[in-house]
Amino acid sequence: MPSSTIESVRSAVQQRQTTAFAFAEDHYRRIQKEDEQIGAYLTLCRERAMEQADRIDRLAAEGKPLPALAGVPVALKDVMSTRGVRTTAGSKILDNYIPPYDCTAVARLEAAGAVLLGKTNCDEFAMGSSNENSAFRPVRNPRDLTRVPGGSSGGSAAAVAADMAVAALGSDTGGSIRQPASFCGVVGLMPTYGRVSRYGLIAFASSLDHIGPLTKTVKDAAIILRTIAGRDPMDSTSADVPVPDYVAELDRPMRGLKLGMAKEYFAEGLDDQVRQAVEAAINKLEEAGCEIVPVSLPHTRYAVPVYYLIATAEASSNLARYDGVRYGHRAAGVKSLSEMYRRTRDEGFGAEVKRRIMLGTYALSAGYYDAYYLKAQKVRTLLTRDFEEAFRKVDAIVTPTSPTAAFRLGEKSDDPLAMYLADIYTVTADLAGIPGISIPCGETKEKLPIGLQILGKHFDEATILRVAHAYEQITQSVS
Ligand code: GLN
Repeated sequence: MPSSTIESVRSAVQQRQTTAFAFAEDHYRRIQKEDEQIGAYLTLCRERAMEQADRIDRLAAEGKPLPALAGVPVALKDVMSTRGVRTTAGSKILDNYIPPYDCTAVARLEAAGAVLLGKTNCDEFAMGSSNENSAFRPVRNPRDLTRVPGGSSGGSAAAVAADMAVAALGSDTGGSIRQPASFCGVVGLMPTYGRVSRYGLIAFASSLDHIGPLTKTVKDAAIILRTIAGRDPMDSTSADVPVPDYVAELDRPMRGLKLGMAKEYFAEGLDDQVRQAVEAAINKLEEAGCEIVPVSLPHTRYAVPVYYLIATAEASSNLARYDGVRYGHRAAGVKSLSEMYRRTRDEGFGAEVKRRIMLGTYALSAGYYDAYYLKAQKVRTLLTRDFEEAFRKVDAIVTPTSPTAAFRLGEKSDDPLAMYLADIYTVTADLAGIPGISIPCGETKEKLPIGLQILGKHFDEATILRVAHAYEQITQSVS
């Protein structure tokens, strides 16, 4: 059972059994004790946290009703801008960057009473699947310190898994919320593209970037999504679609829901233990009254190459802004403007970021644009149509989140292609813009968590949350 959840914290603070201040202190103590080993946090913002905790405690003392996240200690992936608090995106190039404004999702969390503990470690500019691409240090998986926590939101997942935050925000461009959630044994939700404003999120690939929660329970994910979702005038791609009360919808009965199972997600390369755990989870959902329906997503095998063309193309354009003039690092002792640009970017970016800028620039260059970028966009449309077709028959699709459980540090870091291929089950949803959630569904023999992924229709987070919640309830009452 999770130690504290959003509601347990809020109600304890409301009823004056304890204070928001004490909760924050308690978490900072744990961070101090555990985090040297784990490496989940890059920056703590104690002052801001304690001011907010004080504000909440004063409200509670006056007997005022507290907002939904009152006193809840949360962590933020360091790709979200925080006013006055260092924001690095895991990169040396932003080592000393202090943003002048807050990311919308962060502002909404704080307005709902959350206490922001600090900023979490991640792969540089969110590029990676293991957190080993952080320019500062790798993160270790709290379940097994010799293993990676997944990436790129590995710090956020590890912080929640190790009880160093009640909840966290991450970002998902090709799986970076769901895959680390699965590796660390927590819940990770990627909303529909456009559901949550990207204002203040440091851009990796703008047509693929999503902000979403990592939590201990599905209900907590629903509470956070309800808080951060909805149109934001500062992000023209944020959708003007009503936000349902995800929490109220959680307990609607599941009987009769149709869940799709696609053979393409149970093919070669899937670890046997992962397959067994996911199939057993799907059986439980069937016993609970869902109908399991075979579906086909025939273009799945193109998803990884399509993703790595589009994501790198967009990244090469987004990262052009780090030129030593506007933000962060600038090379010293240079003799000309072009030397300044070159040396700044050479010193500031790590190997993976450079690799992607080169790949993306190549894919966009005259003569190759049609063959690579344009072609990838066309196949992206086919992938999206696969899902539209499948969702004519089913309400949600169930798959493994990742083909394996957490791998060892160093195991794939010299082989970028092997690392990219491990994203096979997650990149499809980002490309199609549909929502997905990963929830724990068992362990390997080595006690490593396994994740079940549930994918939904555009703007239908409510259904995948409902299925995930039901699964959580079934398995908790059994064990
Ligand atoms: N692992 C993928 C990549 O390296 C996804 C990253 C992400 O979702 N931010 O690009």
